[in-house]
Amino acid sequence: EMFGQLTTGLESAWNKLRGVDVLTKENISEPMRDIRRALLEADVSLPVVRRFVSSVSEKALGADTIRGVRPEQQLVKIVHDELVQLMGGEVSDLVFTKSGPTVILLAGLQGVGKTTVCAKLAFYLKKLGKSCMLVAADVYRPAAIDQLTILGKQVGVPVYSEGTEAKPPQITKNAMEEAKSKNIDAIVVDTAGRLQVSLLCIPFNFQPKVTAHGILIDKAMMDELKEVKKAVNPTEVLLVVDAMTGQEAAALVTTFNIEIGITGAILTKLDGDSRGGAALSVKEVSGRPIKFVGRGERLEDLELFYPDRMAQRVLGMGDVLSFVEKAQEVMRQEEAVELQKKIMSAKFDFNDFLKQSQNVAKMGSMSRVIGMIPGMNKVTPAQIREAEKRLAFVESMINAMTAEEREKPELLAESRERRIRVAEESGKTEQEVSQLVAQLFQMRAQMQKLMGMVQGQEAIAGMG
Ligand code: GDP
Repeated sequence: EMFGQLTTGLESAWNKLRGVDVLTKENISEPMRDIRRALLEADVSLPVVRRFVSSVSEKALGADTIRGVRPEQQLVKIVHDELVQLMGGEVSDLVFTKSGPTVILLAGLQGVGKTTVCAKLAFYLKKLGKSCMLVAADVYRPAAIDQLTILGKQVGVPVYSEGTEAKPPQITKNAMEEAKSKNIDAIVVDTAGRLQVSLLCIPFNFQPKVTAHGILIDKAMMDELKEVKKAVNPTEVLLVVDAMTGQEAAALVTTFNIEIGITGAILTKLDGDSRGGAALSVKEVSGRPIKFVGRGERLEDLELFYPDRMAQRVLGMGDVLSFVEKAQEVMRQEEAVELQKKIMSAKFDFNDFLKQSQNVAKMGSMSRVIGMIPGMNKVTPAQIREAEKRLAFVESMINAMTAEEREKPELLAESRERRIRVAEESGKTEQEVSQLVAQLFQMRAQMQKLMGMVQGQEAIAGMG
């Protein structure tokens, strides 16, 4: 199991938290060290590990405790969510052009599984109901063309080839024209991938170029890719990388992205004994998403890359995750009900009114809570702005009231003298103050009515 070692490493982090009541700076420091070690051992690159651990610590310490959820369970959930973010958050599917064939250009070093991916993608496209054609643009290895032809037959899709004499940009362009004339939805282009060379055995025709990321790349190969790209303006340029190369996979994606501009990566051989670091690092390091993963040699062994499923596989704790999610949801609902009750409480005085005016910025969220009450669910942004203006206006009047007057609005209702005083102190007219007092009583009455409705509904629900 690819993530086996990582999963075990993380387990020791959760185990160290058993018996604690709440996550603190002291009691998470050892588990954090375990997490850090586990990720490094899984071949995740050091800067990524550092950022990850500091972000998890911050969230763990800032997290509200959730009733019924143990601290170690909460940490599992935080690590899960952070892993999902690390891997790009959402699934990143293929993009198709609206008209004309969608061109999917595959790049990658030799032996990573690029030709196999061509066939797997063709199989995937067929399942989506899209017609597809494979294009043999790797003209340097006759065997590659033969292999693609065989795979095409196996999948049942046409393979476009012009042998080994033609130039890849021209082949690809011609293939696109042919696809267009035959109304084919997508073409998958297999390009040349030279072997990555070590400094010890540089072939005579190799022009090495060391990139900022320490990757030796074959300039001729890159230039040709650029030309093919220019010739057909592909919708997708996907770099195929071998998961076994660990940290180097992420550096390769970065290099190809800088050199030719890619739209994503395909990680192959995840069924092998890679330690998983590549899957975790590629997005964070390169800024480009992993779109697919290969898990075997068969045609159907290519899957979309789902960050959340991958994170679950890393943690191996699906039940804990769904439990924490449910508890969080229950807590959110309870909080919403509490707030609603406060808003509607019969003792709604000028202090509450003032609190609201000071919380103007939160008006949007207030309106969402109010939206849960039947009949009050259509608060528009214009109404919110209007309410904000109005609240600023009444704030000056409320500030001019005594503490007693704020708590007992009746005093103002009963005494004209008090109203005149408030008007003078706030620079408003007596009439404006009277309107404000009347408004408060109106709101009170309305809220009590709504409260009655809600309680009535609760009673009816309780009877059922
Ligand atoms: P290319 O040189 O990049 O075109 O690589 P190939 O497509 O010829 O694949 C090289 C080898 O890797 C072949 O033996 C494939 O069967 C194998 N291979 C490709 N993808 C996977 C994978 O996801 N899992 C495993 N286990 N083997 C794979």
